[in-house]
Amino acid sequence: MINQDYGNRTPATPMTNHQHNHTPDPQKNIAVAFFLNASFTIIEIIGGILTNSVAILSDAVHDLGDTFSLGLSWYTERIARRKPDSRYTYGYKRFPVLAALVNAVFLLGASIFVLSRAIPLILNPEPVYAEGMIWLAILGIIFNGAAVLKLSKGDSINQKVVRLHLLEDTLGWAAVLIGAVVIRFTGLLWLDPLMGVMIALFIIYNALKNLREALRIFLQASPADSDIPELEEKLMKIQGINEIHDIRTWTIDGMTHVYTLHVVTERGFPAEGYPELKKQVRDTLKAAGFEFVTIEIDRYDEHCGLSDC
Ligand SMILES: [Zn+2]
Ligand SMILES: [Zn+2]
Repeated sequence: MINQDYGNRTPATPMTNHQHNHTPDPQKNIAVAFFLNASFTIIEIIGGILTNSVAILSDAVHDLGDTFSLGLSWYTERIARRKPDSRYTYGYKRFPVLAALVNAVFLLGASIFVLSRAIPLILNPEPVYAEGMIWLAILGIIFNGAAVLKLSKGDSINQKVVRLHLLEDTLGWAAVLIGAVVIRFTGLLWLDPLMGVMIALFIIYNALKNLREALRIFLQASPADSDIPELEEKLMKIQGINEIHDIRTWTIDGMTHVYTLHVVTERGFPAEGYPELKKQVRDTLKAAGFEFVTIEIDRYDEHCGLSDC
């Protein structure tokens, strides 16, 4: 489970929109959530071993991922706040993205391990201590449910993302509870590894989604939340612009974007108009979320040698 507010982002979803956080100290919230998660994960691992339940162990992998994620974001968000310097001229905002990437890879590895154990157990199930599972599931519902209620008033995008995640975790525990009760009264032992497989597949699905988003950033894809052709059309409407080329756009961390371009002026457009033209280009791009904008102006009769037309 996860708890409280992560600060200005959730570690598992580095691509959410930028939010101004009004809580007194987000770092402190992350620390509290980290220690709550870590202790619950330990209870879960011990409980999973004692009850011999693959479903509980599979869920423990998920919670270990949440704990890692919180720990890494606690550490990397601190680094991300540093101002740009001569070593990292774009600043340190990619460190949390790296943390999300590492976490996704860890979750994939751990889930594949769980699958390799759980799938054979469906055919040859081992006895589980169903009553112990029931108590652990009730504990899990109380822990996660309390966190959902605590966050139920927040309406920032970040709080919604965290709440949704906690709700998923709570529903997962509800499923384990139902499964454990059924096992307790019917002795259908294969239900436990089957739940374990389903939880592992769910973790893999989310981890792949996060991995893909983090890789997009490292591979310098255009920002996912920007419509580049539409933006180009908007820029072309600015007075004095005849053509734009060599558009390069990427994102630092999914929230802070970069845009560089060449602007060819219209025939006869005076150099005195350059500052106003650049201001309009800059304003248009800033409004679309681009913080680092670099404009090169090519006069109408100039050939910069880079043009692709
Ligand atoms: Zn979780
Ligand atoms: Zn050019």
